[in-house]
Amino acid sequence: MSLASFTTAVAALGLAAAAAAGSMEAAAPPAHPNAPTATGATPARSAWSWPLDPAPSVVAAFDPPDQRWGRGHRGVDLAATVNQPVLSPADGRVSFAGTIAGRGVVVIAHEGGLRSTFEPVRAQAEVGTAVPGGGVVAVVDDTPGHCAPSTCLHWGVLRGETYVDPLSFLTRRPIVLLPLE
Ligand SMILES: [Zn+2]
Repeated sequence: MSLASFTTAVAALGLAAAAAAGSMEAAAPPAHPNAPTATGATPARSAWSWPLDPAPSVVAAFDPPDQRWGRGHRGVDLAATVNQPVLSPADGRVSFAGTIAGRGVVVIAHEGGLRSTFEPVRAQAEVGTAVPGGGVVAVVDDTPGHCAPSTCLHWGVLRGETYVDPLSFLTRRPIVLLPLE
């Protein structure tokens, strides 16, 4: 490289640096890449969605038994209509589709050892099928369920062998409408 071309190269680099500095100054105050912002907060575990659309009313709340085999309500009952599509509340995989005690049951295995159970339903996806949150897994069956003679969808959630409140997985807690006794 000749001295002349070396000098030219340095000059060019200097101009480039000056141009870059100028553009930096001209820009708005640079945002720190790690600065927290209102929308950039670390997202929580993705929320679940209702297994019925539109969002149903809750006609019977979760009421876990005191003892494991005691009386109680191991899920929530959601107002529904016969043949209404049942949606997976979160990503998962169909782990059971069959009949238990005369009622059609579908079970979806989710992340974290969680399982959703639905009844009375007719499965619309085979065991082993991967389903996205919001994907149709069943339709509500006309077999009398927990709300007979009205129709409702019973939704239970298991963590391991323990029933937990399905509504605790939804972002917006619904107003619980308890049935008139
Ligand atoms: Zn129920």
